[in-house]
Amino acid sequence: MPEEVASGIFRIEVPLPQNPLKMLNAYLVRGERRHLLVDTGFNRQECREALFGALGALGVRPGEIDLFITHMHADHCGLAADLAAIPGTVVYAGKDDGESINRLSDGAAFRRFLLHDMARHGCDAELLRELETSHPGVRYGPSGKIAFTAVDEGDTLVYGESRLHVLFVPGHSPGHMVLFDAQRRILFAGDLVLGDITPNISRRREMPDALGAYLDSLDKVEKLDAALTLTGHRSLVRDTAKRIGELRAHHARRLAEVRGILEGRTATAAEVAPEMTWSIRGTAWTDFPAPQKWFAINEALAHLDHLAVLGIVAREETGDLTRFRLSGKAAATGAAHARSS
Ligand SMILES: [Zn+2]
Repeated sequence: MPEEVASGIFRIEVPLPQNPLKMLNAYLVRGERRHLLVDTGFNRQECREALFGALGALGVRPGEIDLFITHMHADHCGLAADLAAIPGTVVYAGKDDGESINRLSDGAAFRRFLLHDMARHGCDAELLRELETSHPGVRYGPSGKIAFTAVDEGDTLVYGESRLHVLFVPGHSPGHMVLFDAQRRILFAGDLVLGDITPNISRRREMPDALGAYLDSLDKVEKLDAALTLTGHRSLVRDTAKRIGELRAHHARRLAEVRGILEGRTATAAEVAPEMTWSIRGTAWTDFPAPQKWFAINEALAHLDHLAVLGIVAREETGDLTRFRLSGKAAATGAAHARSS
């Protein structure tokens, strides 16, 4: 039976088989005639059974549910087309991520996006070929296009005792949206704030400084002073300010690590990623599954991009590759560090 995490709000644990995230938290907000489901799990049978089984256990019929998608990733929106097919269902999402979900539901578009954007960051042809079949977005995205109802910052959705304010928090994805119940100070955080793992930050064409956008979104959400943060994966967060502080510190360490890796050399994002610290314990880089390599290289790139915005790293575009090196400013600030310590 799904756990009631606040009055009228239930957490539904949806398993994500063979995925390091392990499970997704979907939430059902009970209303009077219609209820709101937040996120869905992958488009695969194990997720479908867990989600619809839990809704049945709550006594909620599929025809009474509207859906809110926090962001475009397949573990959050995979079953959106199943629900959208039920007459009367409203499927809310941010405009950008809703459009991305529909655009990338076409496998050819996904492959074009993968190849075009990442080949120049050093992703080799073999990795890109493996991703064509193994990337979760390709395998487990929604089964068809969805007529989304676009929501934007400032909109409010009312279900039962919850008045849910929509906030735009780009970073983990370009159009990530969260919901905030201001009266009860409950945040439906999607993958903006997670309890036991740090959200992946990936460069996207629409978001040239993804990490900068993410850090700004953390600042914005910190001001809400949430008493309970309903995360997209694993455990819930009660002390949101503390967790946001830890997430900021994590990325500060990461930025320092990436800067250290570039000491005395010029490298692509794909060359930087294997030297960073990853939490897949005891696994050598060469044994990382293709999607994990992909997320790691994208995360390296998001940190390199942010260092470039700070002026610490410079880009070198040579032929088909983008390489990064420390800038003159990095050498100057490095020397200042050495002097002051
Ligand atoms: Zn996500």
